[in-house]
Amino acid sequence: MTGVRVHTTLPVRVLIGPGARHEIPAEVRRLGARQVMVVATPSAGQATDELVSALGPLFGARFDRPVVHTPVAVTAEAMRLVEGTGADLVLAIGGGSAIGLGKAISSRTGMPQIAVPTTYAGSELTPTLGETTDGVKTTRRDPALAPGTVVYDPELTLSLPARLTLTSVMNALAHAVEALWAPDASAVSDAVATGAAEVILTELPGSLAKLSDVSVRARLQEASWLAGLALAQTSMGLQHQLAHVLGAAYDLPHAELHTILLPHVMAYNLPGAPRAAARLARITGADPVSVVSQLTRAVDGPANLAALGVPRADLVDLARRTVAAPYPNPRPVDVAAVTHILTQAW
Ligand code: NAD
Repeated sequence: MTGVRVHTTLPVRVLIGPGARHEIPAEVRRLGARQVMVVATPSAGQATDELVSALGPLFGARFDRPVVHTPVAVTAEAMRLVEGTGADLVLAIGGGSAIGLGKAISSRTGMPQIAVPTTYAGSELTPTLGETTDGVKTTRRDPALAPGTVVYDPELTLSLPARLTLTSVMNALAHAVEALWAPDASAVSDAVATGAAEVILTELPGSLAKLSDVSVRARLQEASWLAGLALAQTSMGLQHQLAHVLGAAYDLPHAELHTILLPHVMAYNLPGAPRAAARLARITGADPVSVVSQLTRAVDGPANLAALGVPRADLVDLARRTVAAPYPNPRPVDVAAVTHILTQAW
């Protein structure tokens, strides 16, 4: 350990604000593209229809069956469509699943990307892509994977139901919390992660009652932008590893998993991460674990791993798989500790 750390900032053009989506055709032209391959989350169908008509002759093709955890078989299906068109730019609109597929297509073709997120998952800002083959998720990191343009239009998030809003924001909070205890945290990642955590922990309870207010949605989207930057700049630990292992093994929704796991991973990690613990305590003015735990229950939904259908008999094996190739984590992980965390979350 020399004490020298490396901080990388990725170049990205961010268009943000209500109505930002209307700038997309101009952005496509600015990038010199002529045929856009659109990858869309079905729930963002109406916004996608409008986008396709605004693109006019710039529209090339549309694939609207992205699947969570980016299965390679689905990417292969989308690639057949790409190959049948003269697409020279990929635009992903929707949640992290659509954005992951956009990254997978871009990595196979070299096409530039525009990402238009409609959840708070943060993938649009990161140089990472997790792809799944036979229930095993493999993550790779390459600056070329990060979209060059991100369009944050809070109006596109108005249709996110309350439960999805809560879990997706908890996914953003998980990025911020893990960035705070990351071994490669820097002054910059600490600042953006703290900013994200502050908005989420202090404003989310009130925001949940006003989700049809665009200015409330804009604040949550800003928090997700900050959390995504924190995610892009640091190594994720046990929280993300468990979400990846469980999500790929049982094909579970990513944001629900983060929501269920976060208080338990925080309870385990914070005693080994005093700086992160102090920052979170300063923001919450209370015990961060109980504040987060309460927040996860603010909107009804699956409350534990049992409710998501994870078999209790699998927990030790899941812990073994986690410990076999651990992500960097502030406290050492062993089978007993991970089994305990999973049992608490179960
Ligand atoms: P998702 O994309 O699967 O979307 C979750 C649900 O929200 C879906 O049912 C979708 O149809 C619905 N939805 C999306 N936008 C909506 C809207 N505006 N209105 C109504 N419904 C809407 O899930 P996600 O949580 O956004 O993303 C999870 C995926 O992203 C996982 O594969 C995860 O691994 C990946 N991810 C990757 C990174 C990264 O840095 N590589 C970061 C975060 C997440």
